[in-house]
Amino acid sequence: MPKHSQSHLDPRQPLVVDTTKLPRQPGATRTLQRVVSAPVDLGLELIQVPQGSDLELDLSLTSVSEGVYVSGAVRGSLAGECGRCLNPITESFDVPIAELFAYADSTTEETTDDDEVGRMQGDLIDLEPAVRDAVVLTLPTNPVCRPDCPGLCPECGVHLDDLPAGHGHEDVDPRWAALRNLSKTEE
Ligand SMILES: [Zn+2]
Ligand SMILES: [Zn+2]
Repeated sequence: MPKHSQSHLDPRQPLVVDTTKLPRQPGATRTLQRVVSAPVDLGLELIQVPQGSDLELDLSLTSVSEGVYVSGAVRGSLAGECGRCLNPITESFDVPIAELFAYADSTTEETTDDDEVGRMQGDLIDLEPAVRDAVVLTLPTNPVCRPDCPGLCPECGVHLDDLPAGHGHEDVDPRWAALRNLSKTEE
């Protein structure tokens, strides 16, 4: 069995950054501006970054004694579904990112866990996990099309926005009315 096979990063992958041009001298800085296509499954079930849509990286890479510090912003668009009315949601996001990637064999690399501090592989940095964390953490678990979305009429399923004020189903069978009162108390 191969010993802990290190996954090799491909510098041609959109979220892999090559730091060859960044001097390994603390304080040295390079900017990185790049538009890449969003990877698959970036987001949550109800709202996500559409695969292949533009993901804009606006970052600066700074050499520190133990590695490279990546900071800046990631921007892009989101597509999802309102949890109350099921209407499509499209919006943009702009999230900060700040992460240290330790040089292989640095003290930091040896004294921290993989999930605390990122790892460099040679001169390469895989930004995907950091981008994923930054984006996913800002997503609402219950996305809504707007904060005051009234949702759908529980009885006819029509969006309450599209119904006249005071819309109701008062003339229905009294047994349904009992059910309605039940669902009201549950809310
Ligand atoms: Zn809605
Ligand atoms: Zn109705």
